[in-house]
Amino acid sequence: MSHPNYMELAAPGVRGLQPYQPGKPLAELEREYGIHDAVKLASNENPLGPGALAVAAAREVLTDLSRYPEGSGYLLAERLAGKHAVTPAAITLGNGSNDVLDMIARVFLGPGIEAVYSQHAFAVYPIAVQATGARARVAPAADGSSGPAYGHDLAAMAERVGPQTRLVFIANPNNPTGTWLKEAELRAFVDDLPDHVMVVIDEAYFEYVDEADYPDSSRWLAECPNLIVTRTFSKAYGLAGLRVGYAVSDPKVADLLNRVRHPFNVNTVGQVAALAALDDSGHLEETLRVHRAGMAQLVSGFERLGLSCIKSVGNFVAVDVGRPAAAVYEGLLQSGVIVRPVANYEMPNHLRVTVGLPEENQRLLAAMKKVLA
Ligand SMILES: *Cc1c(COP(=O)(O)O)cnc(C)c1O
Repeated sequence: MSHPNYMELAAPGVRGLQPYQPGKPLAELEREYGIHDAVKLASNENPLGPGALAVAAAREVLTDLSRYPEGSGYLLAERLAGKHAVTPAAITLGNGSNDVLDMIARVFLGPGIEAVYSQHAFAVYPIAVQATGARARVAPAADGSSGPAYGHDLAAMAERVGPQTRLVFIANPNNPTGTWLKEAELRAFVDDLPDHVMVVIDEAYFEYVDEADYPDSSRWLAECPNLIVTRTFSKAYGLAGLRVGYAVSDPKVADLLNRVRHPFNVNTVGQVAALAALDDSGHLEETLRVHRAGMAQLVSGFERLGLSCIKSVGNFVAVDVGRPAAAVYEGLLQSGVIVRPVANYEMPNHLRVTVGLPEENQRLLAAMKKVLA
């Protein structure tokens, strides 16, 4: 029997997809280049690692791994409900927030339906949307005249909402640009959406943002029934390897999400470690302290190199290297520093750099100086 034309067999929405490109793993770089002390500032991970309480909680359940996880994630959902002042039925747990974003797309999208997001927005939105066969309406990013350049242009996004629109994705702040939306403008946008449109506000970097008019949009849920807020344990909580994220929404929306949620999507270790991480305020404070110092170090370092960067409130910053960034990325790899090229985000001259430990940031800045020379 000859091989079928697999591409023709694939669902139409899947045929045009490109797989998500993760940051290069450290071990891969070290293998390929024969280096030993490489630094990875490519995936917005917490440079301090997980907190001690999360690690201890994870260790403790290792002997229970023959059992399925608690399917509803009862304790974690209850704790998150308290944190967001909602009922536990408003929480949907995911295998990372990517899983939640995918569930949302599968519930609300399909052929003939549209979703709106911004140019330069997080790469998972196009994948989640297109896989369902829905059509993406991509709004051009702000050009700097009204709101920060590269940021979401809410007016342009609103213009693309039509009768077939069911979902709008907003990353606040956005990755890879680090741009963010203020409380008043974002709330007005949500309030003005028609009733047939759900809006997802992705707050993966919520804990890092230190701006007075940055909103905790989960507080709007009582008045904004079309809102879904997503959060994650992958970034500030330092648990990216365990894959735990969640949505907060109206319980009726959570009920729909649960219909497509894979059984046991959040594993036992992830559930207990996330719960413990929520109680580890010391680790979160230390994370933010290291982050602020590191961001200042990178921004002033780039300035000294004559490079401009997009002002970011996330734990990463997109720097304009003033030329096609692919060769600079390669040069940095040869110096043992992994960052993230963002040409796939229509930002060919930028590199996204995760804020690391002081010595890691210094390695990056020194390597950058050498490569650009
Ligand atoms: C990292 C990130 C996520 C979270 O991914 P997880 O699946 O929770 O690890 C979600 N949204 C944005 C914008 C991100 O950058």
